[in-house]
Amino acid sequence: MEILTTAAALQAHTENWRRAGQHIGLVPTMGALHEGHLQLVRAAATECDVVVASIFVNPTQFNNPDDFRLYPRLPEADAALLAPAGCTALFLPSVSEMYPRPTVVQFGFGALERVMEGEHRPGHFNGVATVVSKLFHLSRPHRAYFGQKDFQQVAIVRQLISDLTFDLELVAFPTVREPDGLAMSSRNRRLSPEARALAPRLYQSLQAAAELLRGGHTAPAAVQAAVREQLAAVPGLELEYITVADAHTLQPLTDTYAGCPAVVCLAAHLGGVRLIDNVVVEGK
Ligand code: AMP
Repeated sequence: MEILTTAAALQAHTENWRRAGQHIGLVPTMGALHEGHLQLVRAAATECDVVVASIFVNPTQFNNPDDFRLYPRLPEADAALLAPAGCTALFLPSVSEMYPRPTVVQFGFGALERVMEGEHRPGHFNGVATVVSKLFHLSRPHRAYFGQKDFQQVAIVRQLISDLTFDLELVAFPTVREPDGLAMSSRNRRLSPEARALAPRLYQSLQAAAELLRGGHTAPAAVQAAVREQLAAVPGLELEYITVADAHTLQPLTDTYAGCPAVVCLAAHLGGVRLIDNVVVEGK
């Protein structure tokens, strides 16, 4: 596996791979890799000739300076995990390499970003769209792999690909979980043992919410209230939002649930660590 640190080096490799007719898979990450990331890389290695994994803690998508500062950074350990998973090239740029000048272009995603993460993290998806566009231009992937753990991000990237006519296929990969149900996340490393023991309650409450929705007798607003009540009982847990939304438009469902594909998304703070998770309810 090669480690590339400059945009020019990645572009040169991309050029060669494309000329040789090789199919390129891209897996963008912020590092501190776990099994969720590695499954994306393995899927890309199965489906593509070359796999580019990027590790870049993107400052423009953080609205909280402490979250950016405390984000785990473990490039050597990450590199050691990527090669056996089938990664061909690790792109590991510095901030000045990705942002030689401050950016001016702003992305707006309308209603898609006025809910959930977009509502609670102003500017987040502008930063995501900026860095993802740069990575698409530099690596020119045939397929790009994203996790459904960041459900809204997948919707935003799908819109970005469509609006800017990026010639690639988006692969949305199911959320990989710990045996106790906690969604794998680089931020889990920052949980204290006490907080880690309580963290699976998030997924349990989401599963209960999905069951209520599937049952068809509980309005989305009542489902949200049930989750609030369950999580209020967890010591040290502060729920930021719980939203039942249409899985395609991401617009909140409140009064009635007519059986469309839906998603239940939440964000919560546990012992100073912000966690997100979601479950999808297939339509009837
Ligand atoms: P991150 O490093 O957190 O920005 O994540 C990089 C990519 O891995 C994103 O597309 C995430 O959605 C995806 N990802 C993160 N955690 C998981 C997980 N537990 N299961 C599946 N994909 C994940």
